[in-house]
Amino acid sequence: MGQSKIWLSSPHMGTEELKNVQEAFATNWVAPVGPFINQFERDLSDYTQVKHTAVVQSGTAAIHLALRLLDVGKDDIVLCQSFTFIGSSNPISYQQAQPVFIDSETETWNMCPEALETAIKHFIKCGKKPKAILVVHLYGMPAKMKEIGALAERYEIPIIEDAAEALGSSIEGQACGSFGVFGILSFNGNKIITTSGGGALQSNDESAIAKARFLAMQAKDNAPHYEHSTLGYNYRISNIAAAIGVGQLQVLDDRVAARRANYKFYEDLFKNVDGVQFLEEPQGYMSNRWLSCILLEQSENKKLSPEDFRLHLEQDNIESRPLWKPMHMQPLYKGAAYFGGTIAEQLFQKGICLPSGSNLTNHDKERIQKSIQTFLNL
Ligand SMILES: *Cc1c(COP(=O)(O)O)cnc(C)c1O
Repeated sequence: MGQSKIWLSSPHMGTEELKNVQEAFATNWVAPVGPFINQFERDLSDYTQVKHTAVVQSGTAAIHLALRLLDVGKDDIVLCQSFTFIGSSNPISYQQAQPVFIDSETETWNMCPEALETAIKHFIKCGKKPKAILVVHLYGMPAKMKEIGALAERYEIPIIEDAAEALGSSIEGQACGSFGVFGILSFNGNKIITTSGGGALQSNDESAIAKARFLAMQAKDNAPHYEHSTLGYNYRISNIAAAIGVGQLQVLDDRVAARRANYKFYEDLFKNVDGVQFLEEPQGYMSNRWLSCILLEQSENKKLSPEDFRLHLEQDNIESRPLWKPMHMQPLYKGAAYFGGTIAEQLFQKGICLPSGSNLTNHDKERIQKSIQTFLNL
């Protein structure tokens, strides 16, 4: 091998992050309170145009808080996109609620509105109205929020939008995460911007976000001693991580542009190859292209197996990965209810995520191109 590893998606710092961290040290705000936390919250609200933001330690924690704020508890039903990362659905189980998984549609790979409505009707008929809809903008592609929003309104069920992979994505200029009652973001190490670990809960409901901060700091009542009347969590972000986030947010638009250029690079590379399918943006949709993904049709050309492709890239020290394995296929969720067909399952079987970092160099891209061309015998 000898050549350095090309990662799927690795951290990419700008110029201000380290300066901000040094400032946090110099002023001794090395704590889960401090000026960078407040600034990061304001900057995120400015960016997505959602009025209020609580920054926390992870996207998973943000989803957990959203469920708490919607009063989701034991045996309640939450309708959740099946085709996602487990961070979306684990918090449903933390609340001892019941995740019900919904298939995807083929246009955006996200929650299928028809399957969603079937599920809603089914549970209302059984006298168990779902408590929330958890929709995901996977790989940065916005879900069909117009259709899903209309269903949420008709049946009066609140939406939690998992925009962990979709910071910088929008529909007709409106940011992902701003359509539902709650939107959540993630700043984990592989996301489009990172604070090493971190997340955010956003809402236009000021008192809900104030309560989220209260719950995220062990739910301390207003008293000189430590008084607690409800269950809280230690979920608040560190001022150090927020210092990194403030710097990262300044370069977010550059990162989106670089990721979109990666997608274009792959599109050009596979232009004349049969059996390779891309995820195109529907009219008015803008994806941050967090990860560039393709589907390989195995029937037309036996050689185009996603697993053979992945192993070939690995030999050249290039990381790639299958698409997310749907939650209804996970051993953890054996027995969970599922509505829909086999779209999510087929995506998992046919798909592969290609190296997509905003820090890929031209040299990296040449290596990737050469490796892919060898695989395809071009
Ligand atoms: C990363 C991610 C999460 C969880 O975010 P963390 O910050 O890692 O807890 C949730 N949902 C999706 C779709 C994600 O990609």
